[in-house]
Amino acid sequence: MSANGDSYETPPDGFPTAPVAYECPECGQTIQAIPGPVARLLHCPACGNHFVIAAIDGSTDVPEEGAEAEKNERELEELDSLRMRHLVVTRRTAMRSRTYNILGAAACLTGAAKLVLMTVTEVRAAGWHLRQVSFVMFTLVALSPISFLLRRAAHWARESRGAKIPDPETPPDFTPLSDGSQHARNLEDLH
Ligand SMILES: [Zn+2]
Repeated sequence: MSANGDSYETPPDGFPTAPVAYECPECGQTIQAIPGPVARLLHCPACGNHFVIAAIDGSTDVPEEGAEAEKNERELEELDSLRMRHLVVTRRTAMRSRTYNILGAAACLTGAAKLVLMTVTEVRAAGWHLRQVSFVMFTLVALSPISFLLRRAAHWARESRGAKIPDPETPPDFTPLSDGSQHARNLEDLH
């Protein structure tokens, strides 16, 4: 081969364009490969052996992909534990918020139930007058925040589970709670 031919196969920048024949140290199989900027492991298809082929510059230091991956994994684990700690605090806060909302809703419901009982007792005793009507109004006022509070409780319950489910489009059905509005409708029927 002429000197010209050699310079064709090895361009001025030193990058060989032609594959180089490597011999597997295990079985002697010849494997064609183009050396890269760094040394790498070559897989012998004949015997399954891996062996190092030198980089263009002759170095045989294979970049430690294993060590790199291990380092990344460790960093990910640290990040995970940070996230986990953050999650625990977030969950605790969410559960507390959920409890407050449920307690609030329960208090409203208790108040409304008492007002309904009072209204029923008074209406039975004296019929519908301004006083009884005002009890119904108070009942409605007591009931009004329950739907909101329960939605907030549901929101915090979802938050505590870490699920990012959007709030429901339609508000939940609390018709069993609407004793007050039922009384208001009865009231309208009287007119
Ligand atoms: Zn081999």
